[in-house]
Formats: sequence, structure tokens, C-alpha cells
Amino acid sequence: MTEVAEAPNAPRAQELKRIAHWINGASVAGESGRSGPVYNPAAGVQTGEVDFASIEEIDRAVQAAKDAFPAWRAVSLSRKTEIFFRIRALVDEHREDIAKILTAEHGKVLSDALGEVARGIEVIEFCCGIPELLKGGFTEQASTGIDVYSIRQPLGVCAGITPFNFPAMVPMWMWAPALACGNTFVLKPSEKDPSASVYTAELLKEAGVPDGVFNVVHGDKVAVDAILEHPGIDALSFVGSTPIARYVYETGTSHGKRVQALGGAKNHMIVLPDADIDMAADAAVSAGYGSAGERCMAVSMLVAVGDAGDELVGAIKERLPKVKVGDGMEADSEMGPLVTREHRDKVASYIDKGRAEGATVVADGRESAPGGEGFFLGVTLLDDVKPEMEVYKDEIFGPVLGVTRVSTYDEAVRLVNDNPYGNGVAIFTRDGGVARQFQFDVNVGMVGINVPIPVPVAYYSFGGWKNSLFGDLHIYGPEGIQFYTRGKVVTSRWPDPATSKVDLGFPQTR
Ligand code: NAD
Repeated sequence: MTEVAEAPNAPRAQELKRIAHWINGASVAGESGRSGPVYNPAAGVQTGEVDFASIEEIDRAVQAAKDAFPAWRAVSLSRKTEIFFRIRALVDEHREDIAKILTAEHGKVLSDALGEVARGIEVIEFCCGIPELLKGGFTEQASTGIDVYSIRQPLGVCAGITPFNFPAMVPMWMWAPALACGNTFVLKPSEKDPSASVYTAELLKEAGVPDGVFNVVHGDKVAVDAILEHPGIDALSFVGSTPIARYVYETGTSHGKRVQALGGAKNHMIVLPDADIDMAADAAVSAGYGSAGERCMAVSMLVAVGDAGDELVGAIKERLPKVKVGDGMEADSEMGPLVTREHRDKVASYIDKGRAEGATVVADGRESAPGGEGFFLGVTLLDDVKPEMEVYKDEIFGPVLGVTRVSTYDEAVRLVNDNPYGNGVAIFTRDGGVARQFQFDVNVGMVGINVPIPVPVAYYSFGGWKNSLFGDLHIYGPEGIQFYTRGKVVTSRWPDPATSKVDLGFPQTR
């Protein structure tokens, strides 16, 4: 088993952990001569070096997956279920180890990392029901002596390309349904926090997943492009930022692959004047600053309707000094650092940008950030944000929460519907009728009613609208099963010599 990185102490350069590929059931050191740094964001030091795959190394992984496909596809559903129950047990048993790896490389606090693993386990649990999920339809006597039935079959080799912000859960959204449906898999995790994927590969092997069925290759654009263009890959799931999602969708589909590419977000939380303001303020702080705002479902814009604004901003302001920012490994930390120094600096630059554009800086996270070399930024609140400002338009992806004020419900809905993203949205109100109207009106894929981060449970599917998703099918849940399979319809007749005759006419059903 891979050693779990000890995060808090800054290792010296000669102690750097080498993170290798996982191909055909074994760790494979990269040979491309290219690699990238992995940091402990809380300490601000490099702790590892991850190998970057060449085109040839991607090809080796795809070949391993291709070779493993015929046998894996033929494994019975009852045996696959047995393996999935074992995967579930092993991930559960090692959930703390996985969480520590996440905190060490991503920076999120341990409790949040455990939550990430728990939501991933739910997808694995869903996949334990694969015999039920793959059931087809059957029609007896569609025509005289003729039965018709539908079945769903795997695609072949599937690939996944994942973002830095959920290094365990998002890969689980992909490999779990892909494998359960009988496909083999090549995962290219984020190069910023790649260790959890290799650790998972070891657990899958221990659970009885045959060699070659699950492979991990690391890298940057070179590896992604090699995956997009590889003729041996049949389908591709991507989660990441919108420009790359669009690129992956366009390039992957032009190379004949089935692609689902989930992109970025700008999630609004609308607070109506009748809302429980304390509940809304708690939700805004949790959803705005949890995981340092590095969640695609983070609330980044609060839309205060009517006279809700002053009370809401006051209630949030009161809560901000209590948010404990610190090393994610420490039990009392509630918010960790950002993933890299560059990302922290970029996020922090929006504070001055917002001020210059006319927003009111209620809390400046640079002033409350812990000292030292860690990539920290404290909680930031910008009031009086307007839709034409960059702080409104950009996905900042950090602990910067904006507040915009509008007069009416209609204005609030228009703001959300005019936004190019459509991942998540929430409304806070005590009025059930308005909430119901909101779910009807709003052009967003995932809607929360007094729930700030409405990530669907594993037996529904996850996905946004507009620039938050390129492709037709959402990820995991029933749509995930559909994505990783294709339908086949069989029309069958068994010989009955008594009625056998030649008929050159087009088959009729009567
Ligand atoms: P990213 O787009 O930079 O990277 C995602 C993946 O693409 C990584 O594996 C990376 O190696 C690869 N990549 C990066 N640049 C590339 C390029 N030029 N060509 C080809 N491949 C490239 O995203 P990130 O910074 O890792 O993650 C944060 C983003 O992901 C945010 O925009 C967030 O909203 C989004 N996200 C979306 C969802 C969702 O479900 N919609 C979930 C999580 C994260």
C-alpha cells in the first residue's frame, strides 16, 4: 500500500515522494523525462514529484485496458457485484488514509476530505446494484412467434480526466459506473494532487479487479491530448474548467468518442425577504467558504432580494471572524489553504479588482490569513457587486463571496438565467409556492430549496446546464449507467418447421 504522506512537516527536497503511473496492475515509473511538482499547500512546500506520461505511455495504458476488456466484460454480474461490495468495504476501511492523502495534497480540512470520500462511497454503493441497473426490457409475442428484447452492453475502454478539487470523489463518479457496466478504464487525475488515484488503484487490485481493468496515467496537456486522439478509447468523461471542458468535448467527439465534459460554475444563492436569515447566513458561510471555495457547487454569489440585503450581510459579517483557517490536518481547522501559490495569488487579486470596480470590501481575506509559507487566504466578503463586474462574471474558485442586491424575485431569476453557467443554484425562502415556481423558472441543472449545495444523491445524476456541461448525459446515477453502455435490441424467433416459409416482404408485426 502507498505510504500516506505526512503533511504538516515540510520535507526536504531529497525526501520528495515520486508518484508513478499504474498500468496493468502495477506501479510503472514514468520514462518521458517530464514531471511536475506536488505541494503540501498548508506548509507551502513541495512534497512530491509526479511523472508526466508521454504519448507512448498513454498508449501502453490504453493497450492494457483494451487487452483486459474481453475477459472483464464476460465476468458475470454476480461476480462483479461481489467485487464491488469488496471495493466498497476496502474504501470504507481506508477512508481515513484516503482523506489524509487528500488533505496533504489538496489542502482541504480532514473533515471535509472525509465527506468527499463518503460521497464517493455512495456512488460505489449505487454500483453494487449493477444487476438491477442493467436490466433490459422484454416483449413476448411482438409478432407471432417473435420476441423482442433490449440489453445494454459496455463500450470498451473508457477514460476519465479529473480536476484537482475532488481528487477521490470525482474519479469515483467515473470509474465506478464504468467498471460496473463492464468497461475498462484509464484515469488521468489532476497533476496537482495525483496520489489518491494511485492509492485507489491498489485498493481495486486488492478487491479483485483484474490487472489492466483500471489504469492511472499522470500528466498535463500532452497526456490529455493523447487520450483525446487515441483510437482505442471509446468514451471519455471530463470534469474541470469550462474552457478545457469545451476543448475536450470538441476534440474528443471529433475523434469519434462519446464525451461528457462537465465545466465550471458561478452558483447563485437567492435570499428572499421572508427567508430565515440566520439559516441563510449559516448556509452562505458554509457553502461559500467550505473547501476554501474550491468546489464547483460552492456558492459564489448571494442575491439578496428586497430588504433582505442589510440583515443578511450583517449576519454573515458576524460569523466570519469565527471561521478557523488553518492546516487541514489540525482538528479545529474549518478552512484550509488554496491548492497552489499561483491560485491563491490569483484569487486574492480579485479583492483589489472588486474594490476598483466599485464593490464594497466587507472582509479582506488577506488580512485574516494565517502567516507562514502556506497558500492561505482568509474569508473575503464583497458587497454591492454588480453583474458587469469581473468579480461577478469570473469563476474565482476561492473563498471570495459576493453579494448583489436586486429589488424583485423576477430580477433575481433573470440574473441566474442570463449567466453563462448553469451548474447549481439555491433559493432561501419560507414560501413553498415561490420555491416551486423557482424550480420551474430557473435554467440550472441542480437546484436547492433552502439547501445551499444541492449535489444530488448517488441514485440521481449530477450535472449542470449551459457552459457547465458539454454533452448530453449527466454523470453517475442512471445517466451514468446510460453513458457507459449502449443499447442493443434483439428480435428473435425459434424455428418452428410447421410454419417455416420464404417471405421476401418487409417484416410486419401483425
Ligand atoms: P482544469 O480544467 O484546469 O483541469 C482539469 C483537468 O484538465 C486536469 O486533469 C488537467 O490536467 C487537465 N488540463 C488542464 N489544462 C489543460 C489543457 N490546456 N489541455 C488539456 N488538459 C488540460 O480544472 P481544475 O483547475 O483542475 O479544477 C477546477 C475547475 O473544475 C473549476 O472550474 C470547477 O468549477 C471545475 N469543476 C467542475 C465540476 C462539475 O461537476 N461541473 C466538478 C469539479 C470541478
